[in-house]
Amino acid sequence: MFRLPRIQSALLTTLTLAPAVAFALTGCAGAPNTTSEPGDVAIVIHGGAGTIRRGDLTPELEAAYRSALEEALSAGHVVLRQGGSSLDAVVAAVQVMEDSPLFNAGKGAVFTSEGTNELDAAIMEGKTLMAGAVAGVRRVKSPIALARAVMEQSPHVMMAGAGAETFAMDQGLEIVDPAYFFTQRRWDALQRAKAEETGPQVTAHFRDPDDKKFGTVGAVALDSDGNLAAATSTGGMTNKKFGRIGDAPIIGAGTYANNKSCAVSATGHGEYFIRATVAHDICARVAYSGISLQQAADEVVMKELVEMGGEGGIISLDRQGNIATPFNSEGMYRGSIDKTGKMVIQIYRD
Ligand code: ASP
Repeated sequence: MFRLPRIQSALLTTLTLAPAVAFALTGCAGAPNTTSEPGDVAIVIHGGAGTIRRGDLTPELEAAYRSALEEALSAGHVVLRQGGSSLDAVVAAVQVMEDSPLFNAGKGAVFTSEGTNELDAAIMEGKTLMAGAVAGVRRVKSPIALARAVMEQSPHVMMAGAGAETFAMDQGLEIVDPAYFFTQRRWDALQRAKAEETGPQVTAHFRDPDDKKFGTVGAVALDSDGNLAAATSTGGMTNKKFGRIGDAPIIGAGTYANNKSCAVSATGHGEYFIRATVAHDICARVAYSGISLQQAADEVVMKELVEMGGEGGIISLDRQGNIATPFNSEGMYRGSIDKTGKMVIQIYRD
């Protein structure tokens, strides 16, 4: 038996557009600068990969996604342009998406097979190789803030469940009623996934059977000191067994950053990303074989993962500001502002 959310009346019947951000690209990015001098900054974000084809989204929904991605990019880029750290930038970008019901992270997270929301997140700093991660938290409004607190305020790398929540309270982080995470859209997706179950086993309908996509959010950034950081936050996968932990909080699987190579955040079918140690493998290929970030990312996402049957994609960034965002699914919500200040937001394979 799965439980009903406590506040059935708090249904989100329409996806509300985040307040439009007054984000003039030229104003935000400053004068174009194509050199690689210190002081150059860059940020890349994703809001999930999956079967996202042109025509699948209504114009209104597509506009809402683009607006939310732009708002997240802007939040992170402003931090970088003001001389803030890549760590601050990835947290700022991810928190915008955690707060948006459009994405499977924070508000809008998918439901477990028990009808609960269990959230995972991780963050890593490329300069120090410090990392923090949380798994299976149910009452922390911003799991990425908690992951950062684990990294900076505890001697540990990963904390889970009730203990992680107690730590969140100790740290003064915002605690919410579990009903905060409820959205009708995700609840309906769980019902559809359950209806498609045929036997006593939980069917691996991890993806939302309605829109067939993953919705994890993530960000990677390069700050003016030349430091990389990566952050990922997720509700996991629809109809996941309670207690299941995905790749997002596993350092080296869904999240990794190392100034010697690159920063990576992933989205996709986590079980495959864990077994392929995707994020670390990409960075290791860059470090050990000296190949480009694009080649390393393509090898792992478009070859290794595909051979295993793992669907999804990644965003990545190196210290030179090179960006690679391969995905082997139909689409991936993604955006970037590169070192020249050019902003790109894309959804489809285009
Ligand atoms: N990678 C996430 C997980 O397996 C799902 C996603 O990308 O949406 O938990």
